[in-house]
Amino acid sequence: MSTANDVRADVELAVRAMGYRMDVIDLIRSAGNGHMAGSLSCLDILTVLYERVLRISPDTLRHPERDRYVQSKGHAVEALYVVLAGAGLLDRALLDTYLRFGTDLVGHATRSVPGIEQSTGALGHGLSLGVGMAIAGKQNRLDYRVFVLMGDGEIAEGSVWEAAMSASHYDLDNLVAIVDRNRYQIAGSTAEILDSEPLSDKFTSFGWNVHEIDGHDLALVEHTLSSAPTVPGRPTMVLADTVKGSGISYMEHNIRWHHRVPNDEEYAIARQDVDNRIAELRSRA
Ligand SMILES: [Mg+2]
Repeated sequence: MSTANDVRADVELAVRAMGYRMDVIDLIRSAGNGHMAGSLSCLDILTVLYERVLRISPDTLRHPERDRYVQSKGHAVEALYVVLAGAGLLDRALLDTYLRFGTDLVGHATRSVPGIEQSTGALGHGLSLGVGMAIAGKQNRLDYRVFVLMGDGEIAEGSVWEAAMSASHYDLDNLVAIVDRNRYQIAGSTAEILDSEPLSDKFTSFGWNVHEIDGHDLALVEHTLSSAPTVPGRPTMVLADTVKGSGISYMEHNIRWHHRVPNDEEYAIARQDVDNRIAELRSRA
């Protein structure tokens, strides 16, 4: 049964995830470049992962038994930078160097950045990396889990399906994949460009234990990710339905915001949207 403290903690987590939306927007505004809407769609998932699920801390970034997170949609790295900084895993001052000359905080995920496990952004590779890390965990008898986040446009890459076959072949129940199913990719809707649905049936037939959830329901995301694996011997697939541009009224479901920077007027509206949502959340606590 939830206590009043649990409710307050959950509201504070939701407030934090909303605040991160402004951090992503500020980061992209400061550099004049970045992947906006795809960062916002996965932000709630990343917040739950780093605040509630992953067994990792500033002191265990290289510990052999730490949980691993691979962000296969490496172009949405702005969300990862912000959440890593929020969790104390990345020096917040480094955010000011984003996309500056000589920085490690470039526009795709790289292993040069503390807290980032794998360099990604050439799409379709993260699940294979995760499979390798999960096999290593089994072979070395280490009790960590590997979480991999993919985009739904990325599912069109054939390498994803090779990795999916391998994961069930090797009984990788220490592997959890998440699809940020926001229904869009850079050039349009995933249904129009290359329809990969029904993803649930496809991953089930590839031997995965599949969950379909609302990727913005923080409690449900936490419960689903924390409970994995629910079927021994099977890798877990979480198909998380999300909204591209989530939280910012004019960005939601709007393909123009895949890779665009808000002007002053748009920035003010975004701040108002976030402030309103935070006030609404706090009124429930
Ligand atoms: Mg997408």
